[in-house]
Amino acid sequence: MTLEEIKSIAENSKESLERLASNYGRDVKIYLHWSAGHYGQFFNDYHVNIDSDGSYHVTTNDLSEVISHTYHRNSGAIGVSLACCAGATSNNLGSEAPTGAQIESMSKLIATLCIALDIPCDKTHVLTHGEAADNEDGITNLHDPYGPKSTVERWDLEFLGTSESPSWNPYATGGSRGGDVLRGKGNWYIKELMKA
Ligand SMILES: [Zn+2]
Repeated sequence: MTLEEIKSIAENSKESLERLASNYGRDVKIYLHWSAGHYGQFFNDYHVNIDSDGSYHVTTNDLSEVISHTYHRNSGAIGVSLACCAGATSNNLGSEAPTGAQIESMSKLIATLCIALDIPCDKTHVLTHGEAADNEDGITNLHDPYGPKSTVERWDLEFLGTSESPSWNPYATGGSRGGDVLRGKGNWYIKELMKA
C-alpha cells in the first residue's frame, strides 16, 4: 500500500480515533514497534507492518480499530511495526536488524500520520513501545513501567542499528535514543511534505 493510500485511511479514521482518545482525556497516539519476528512476517496486532524493503502492509481499513499492540494503551492509538529483530539483543540487533529502508519508511509514515491526524511529532504523541512502556509521556496510571529504564520487558527501537551495522547506531549520536531519532526524522519529513 502507498503512503497516499494510508494517508486517506488515516483521514477517514481521524474522527473515531479522536473520539476514542478523548474518552481517556488525551490526544491520538502513534506507537512504534519492532515485531521481534522475521523479515516478511506480519502481525494483525499492528495497523501497519513495514517490511525489510520499506513496503507498507496495512492490516485494516480502519485505523481506529482497537487491536492489541501496546499494553493498556490501545484505544485511540495506531500501532506501527517494523518486521524485524528476531533474536536481537541490546549489544547486537542480529541478522534481522532494522534495514535503512525500514527506518526511512517508518519516519515517512510518522510524518504522514501526524499531518493527517493533525498531531505534533513529539514524545506526547509519538512514542516507541519502549518509551510507552516506561510511561515517558507522563501518563503513569495505566500500568507499571516495563521498558528499558525499568524491567526491560519491552525495548522496541531503543537502539537503531541496521542490517548493515547491527551492533551500533548509525543514526543516533551523542547518546540519543531510537525514539529521538525517529521523531527527528519524522519532523524532517513533515517539513518536506508540507513544502510539496
Ligand atoms: Zn512492541
